[in-house]
Amino acid sequence: MSNRILTGIKPTGQLTLGNYIAVLKGLPKQMEKGELFYFIADLHALTLPIEPDVLRQNSIDLAAFYLAAGLDPNRATLFLQSDVSAHSELNSIMQNYLYMGELSRMTQFKDKSSKMKENAIGLGLFAYPVLMACDIILYDAKTIPVGEDQIQHVELTRDLVNRFNNRYGEVLVLPNYEVKKVGARIMSLSDPKVKMSKSDPKGDIFLKDDLSVIRKKIMSAVTDSGSEVKYDVENKPGVSNLLVIYASMKDITVEEAEKHFEGYRYGDFKREVADAVIEELEPFQNRYKEIIANKSYEKVLQEGAERARKVANETLRRVQKAIGLLGK
Ligand code: ATP
Ligand code: MG
Repeated sequence: MSNRILTGIKPTGQLTLGNYIAVLKGLPKQMEKGELFYFIADLHALTLPIEPDVLRQNSIDLAAFYLAAGLDPNRATLFLQSDVSAHSELNSIMQNYLYMGELSRMTQFKDKSSKMKENAIGLGLFAYPVLMACDIILYDAKTIPVGEDQIQHVELTRDLVNRFNNRYGEVLVLPNYEVKKVGARIMSLSDPKVKMSKSDPKGDIFLKDDLSVIRKKIMSAVTDSGSEVKYDVENKPGVSNLLVIYASMKDITVEEAEKHFEGYRYGDFKREVADAVIEELEPFQNRYKEIIANKSYEKVLQEGAERARKVANETLRRVQKAIGLLGK
């Protein structure tokens, strides 16, 4: 079987540089490595309250961003999660094979629900990893490129696959996560102790920000005491984060970035980090604007949904048969 690579982003807000580095930047290289299934996780976006118009606009933006990042619809499948009903159907099966205890240990659930009142936390937020496991399983995906924060969910999917296969035979493919060596966790520019997140924007660089705003945000990023540009997450989280951003943009290691900035002052260092980000995002933003204007994402999503449905329905049928559901 070919190497299927699957990844998704939730249309919960404006995409950040963290999302770009985790998923979008590597897209052209991924196309060389296997058969890509990239999706817009719109059902997952419902796990926190969102206005219909905002959800619609975010989903369109996300489709355009995938295309602007180099997704070639002739070689990869791009689709909306809600266009493939097998995700929800498999979800109603798999929720019986993951347990309350393991779901309540998920860091992301704890983080996201900690600021909410108990009676406002939707069941979907708690059960989100079940649906995510289904997203992965349906495509027999072997490789899941993610940021560090999603490793726990892919590991849970592996537990589910092993549990299921032990009981029913080799029905499901065991997935592996793939995390970037550099940039697995981009931090907020205003508080480098917290992750850059689109649903909780704080010191984020948004992919749609004006280039002048991006420069301003980087120039006013929190740096640390001292004056040396050194990678030291404990004592210099702000500087370290900027070094990681620079290294990701240039496709070099953090050590190489550190060497490059030896003897720099913070101001000059930030200016070059801003240059690197802008150099990368300027052509990307231009492609995005073109795609939004010509609406080429519409046909891509329609054809993508057809291809995705075929693959997903086959897996769903395999699961239904294995567990004893009658049917065609
Ligand atoms: P939300 O706040 O809605 O959870 P998010 O920014 O965390 O938004 P997701 O849609 O949850 O984005 O995740 C999309 C992908 O981006 C995942 O692979 C995730 O691991 C990755 N990702 C998210 N934030 C970062 C970050 N700060 N650094 C690196 N990767 C990230
Ligand atoms: Mg997230």
